[in-house]
Amino acid sequence: MRLIKHPAEFRNLCEQIRGERRSIGLVPTMGALHGGHGELIKNAHSQNDVVAVSIFVNPLQFDNLADLEKYPRNLETDLSFCSDAGVDIVFAPGQNDMHPEPILFEVKVREMGDILEGASRPGHFAGVVTVVTKLFILTGRCKAYFGEKDFQQLAIVGRLVEELHFPVEIVPVPVVREPSGLALSSRNERLNQSQRRAALALSRGLYAGRDVVNKGERSSYEVESVMVREVERMSEGLPNSSAVVLDYALVVDSQTLVRPDRISGPVRLLIAAKVGDVRLIDNMGANGDQG
Ligand code: AMP
Repeated sequence: MRLIKHPAEFRNLCEQIRGERRSIGLVPTMGALHGGHGELIKNAHSQNDVVAVSIFVNPLQFDNLADLEKYPRNLETDLSFCSDAGVDIVFAPGQNDMHPEPILFEVKVREMGDILEGASRPGHFAGVVTVVTKLFILTGRCKAYFGEKDFQQLAIVGRLVEELHFPVEIVPVPVVREPSGLALSSRNERLNQSQRRAALALSRGLYAGRDVVNKGERSSYEVESVMVREVERMSEGLPNSSAVVLDYALVVDSQTLVRPDRISGPVRLLIAAKVGDVRLIDNMGANGDQG
């Protein structure tokens, strides 16, 4: 496994690999690697000759300095995770390597970037697409693996590739969960035991919402009310430090992320909430065609 810190060196290596007619699978991450990232790596392995994982906590996508500072970082542990997973290249640039100062440029995102996560975290998606653009420019032609865990990010990056004509194929990977239902996330590291139990409210809310869609409910409002009630039920009796403060529980169209009044096809149920001071997101597909 090769560890590379400098963008130019990573770009040269990617060019060399493609020159040898070998395909590249890129897995962009912010580190604190877990089974969700592992699944992306596994998919990348099965479809490419070479797997490159990038590890970079991108300051541009944090709207809150405290959140950026508290984001878990442990390169040594991540490197052994990657080595065990059979990763070929780890690209772990420093902040000034990736975003040389002074920063003049940024990729803007319109409508889809301003709703949901973008509404709660202004500037978040501009930060995401700016760093993803840089990664795609460095890597060149490749397949890039993104988790459905960050559903809005996946939709925006898919559109980015289409609109900016990157020679990149985006491969979505389903959400990986603990047996409890909790979606794996680097942020889970910041939860204490009681907060971890509280965090189950998110996936339970989604399962409850999906169940009523499967049973024939077609009103988005009713499905959202079921999700909210389930989150509230799960949070009853928890200490204040584990309170679940819901940001949104919504039904959206799986492609456009627009909220329909009536469900008439594949939709995505989205939930965002704070548990203590940790912001968590989760989502699940449901199909209004069935039932
Ligand atoms: P992050 O390091 O949190 O920025 O995530 C890097 C990539 O891993 C993103 O494409 C995420 O959507 C994906 N990812 C994170 N958690 C999960 C999960 N539980 N299941 C599937 N993909 C995930």
